[in-house]
Amino acid sequence: MTFEELEIIDPILRAIKEVGYTQPTPIQEKSIPSLLQRKDLLGCAQTGTGKTAAFAIPILQHIYNDKNLNGGFRNIKSLIVTPTRELAIQIEESFTKYGKYTGIKNTVIFGGVKQGGQTQTLRKGVDVLIATPGRLLDLMSQGFVSLRNVEYFVLDEADRMLDMGFIHDIRKIIAKLTIKRQSLFFSATMPLDIIQLSHKILGGKPEKVTVQPEQTTAEKVEQAVYFVNKRNKPKLLTHLLKTVEYESVLVFSRTKYGADKIVKFLKKVNIVAEAIHGNKSQGARQRALTNFKSGETKILVATDIAARGIDIKELSLVINFDLPNISETYIHRIGRTGRAGFSGIALSFCDVEERAYLRDIQKLINQRITVIEDHPFIEDADEVPKKKPAQQRGQRQQQQQPRSRHGERDRDSNNKRRRKYYRQGASKPDRSR
Ligand code: AMP
Repeated sequence: MTFEELEIIDPILRAIKEVGYTQPTPIQEKSIPSLLQRKDLLGCAQTGTGKTAAFAIPILQHIYNDKNLNGGFRNIKSLIVTPTRELAIQIEESFTKYGKYTGIKNTVIFGGVKQGGQTQTLRKGVDVLIATPGRLLDLMSQGFVSLRNVEYFVLDEADRMLDMGFIHDIRKIIAKLTIKRQSLFFSATMPLDIIQLSHKILGGKPEKVTVQPEQTTAEKVEQAVYFVNKRNKPKLLTHLLKTVEYESVLVFSRTKYGADKIVKFLKKVNIVAEAIHGNKSQGARQRALTNFKSGETKILVATDIAARGIDIKELSLVINFDLPNISETYIHRIGRTGRAGFSGIALSFCDVEERAYLRDIQKLINQRITVIEDHPFIEDADEVPKKKPAQQRGQRQQQQQPRSRHGERDRDSNNKRRRKYYRQGASKPDRSR
């Protein structure tokens, strides 16, 4: 299938050729025809599938064909609401790229920066507005944005919107939209609350498109886990960054504070890294992202929400410094590598307290993640949860003994490591007495 066969108009074809797309991705192949027929769409797709172009191209084509681009004030004809600033910026960049030869004007608004620049652009009139919910409502209430003429509405990353507590904002936004519109609803996961929300937004029978069930991405990415003490995680990270080959690495931290700490300890061992998270100013986040995209910074440390907007094709390695407590987040994280057909590697650090998260993740992806046993910071016995009182331990050992083929040697997990060591060629000590 080609873009020509999807009946994309020439000005857009020219632009997508320029960005180097030779053929549509599966989500584009599935969604573009029904979107060009002005149908509503429920898309279950995650990042990296090419979903931005899947909705941007038909919207641009509609606006272009509607032929009301010349003269007069430009009303907002399409609104795209997305949860994070990074994602909003990225979507706007896509509209600019694909719409280069259409004459369509677009802009992006998000919080965390002064509104002056944004309102100035809005005053001049735009056809497409990409927005995060808070700033959108803010500028609506001040009269800078009217949704009266919106004909094409996209709610992107709906599951993340709900995670971030945007549900009330979304309801307020929907209430201001006209009934006669084409609506597109995208979410990586489809739990019940998301399905309910989709019913509110989409008309009668939307087209449903599911691309790359989450397992597929998980299968595509080579994954491994290191069991390591919490306190040894920095050492293991340093060791990996000094020994593993990579073009660019995205290191995930569960918390903002943790992300800063990682950057600091890497600095101490002369490894340059930058962090992006919600406590950083928008300017600092954009700078870090630009440096990372240009290859100036090879290591970016990010929290989950901040990483949502990161789109780097060559991202070859993801390191989960912490395992996420929500299993779906793991899929989002590893989805940052292995994008658009590229293969990637995801390495996770798992301490004793995170073992339960690992179990949940493996259940979700329906896959066992390879455990790397051969590393210098293998979890020590002293990190295993507090031992039971001696009497109870004795009882357990007695119960276990008959089951052990090798008797005493199997009792201590350290022996497993020793055996591995011997297998690798070391001579056994003489234990005879
Ligand atoms: P998205 O899922 O929209 O975040 O897109 C993921 C990546 O795929 C982006 O880097 C896009 O530039 C890229 N992409 C989108 N459509 C295509 C295509 N048809 N061919 C090659 N790359 C594409």
